[in-house]
Amino acid sequence: MRKLITFLLALLGLNATTACSENFASVGVDEFDSQIANPDVQLLDVRSEKEYADGHIKNAILIDINDSSFVNQAKAKLDTARTVAIYCRSGRRSAKAASVLTEAGFNVVNLKGGIEAWKKAGKQVIIGETDDVFTTSRGFRITITPLIHATLRIDAQDLHIIVDPVTRLGDRVVDYSNTPESDFIFVTHEHGDHFDPALIKQLRVDNTTIVTNQRCASQLGFGTVMANGDSILPGPLLAVKAIPAYNTTEGHLQFHPQGRDNGYLLNLDGLRIYIAGDTENIPEMANLGPVDIAFLPCNQPYTMTPDQLVKAAKTIQPKVLFPYHFGKTDLTGIAERLKGVDVRIRKQFE
Ligand code: ZN
Ligand code: ZN
Repeated sequence: MRKLITFLLALLGLNATTACSENFASVGVDEFDSQIANPDVQLLDVRSEKEYADGHIKNAILIDINDSSFVNQAKAKLDTARTVAIYCRSGRRSAKAASVLTEAGFNVVNLKGGIEAWKKAGKQVIIGETDDVFTTSRGFRITITPLIHATLRIDAQDLHIIVDPVTRLGDRVVDYSNTPESDFIFVTHEHGDHFDPALIKQLRVDNTTIVTNQRCASQLGFGTVMANGDSILPGPLLAVKAIPAYNTTEGHLQFHPQGRDNGYLLNLDGLRIYIAGDTENIPEMANLGPVDIAFLPCNQPYTMTPDQLVKAAKTIQPKVLFPYHFGKTDLTGIAERLKGVDVRIRKQFE
């Protein structure tokens, strides 16, 4: 009997030794914080959606370690060439995730003590369902709010932008009563899912600059007109370039003829945001320069198919991609096909 127990203990001991030999680095809060300050490091939260919503570290990507497709999702969303910084609540689940990801070929650093330790150290957490908050190099916080289909708000501290504001789409209605006064309203083109003259007149205050193409400006009777390729510097924090937006598929050319409609490339205190408007994957997308955040449309027959969307994203290489203007298009698999791009699907953009 004694022999048997010794044997079992030896086995347990052996197992315990194996389980304890970590093949990744675990670091404290300060070291973790300085590691994730490097924009090349990918920050990963491995808790549940609910825990994430209750408070997470800024810009963390969420993949639940208890999800059976954890490794596949990680391979799809993360770049193996860049370090992955992992955390959970207390450090236990993240250690498991770190071990799994190390085996899958990632270079991993684990936060000792998890977000509990992070909070105890007085570090910032973001509360809210999504994390569409970005920070410019000078530390401006920029929040992106999807409103409907092709309509979104971009809010910096003192700068408020609305793109393609519309009130209604079918039976879906947007409430603008709590919208801050807009400094800029961008309109891509005249179609009803992008252009709502009555709403623009309602949202417009003395300080609002309306930026649009010629045809919408003519209908409105006002507005700063940008033709494809034009650039403006309307404020100290903002530079804008009008990017062509048009169809290229035979039989679809009449929807958005070349030269008429705009997409916009905004440079907001160094953060480069591309709002494509209604377009297919046009060659001009190769010349946008670096893009931090891209909004690309995906619905037939008016804009892109999912294949075109993937091609466009591979050309543009944004850090974050919001497929938008997607209606009932099935976007399953898009994220898996775009390695290294943080694909964020927001139901408001249906
Ligand atoms: Zn359109
Ligand atoms: Zn449209």
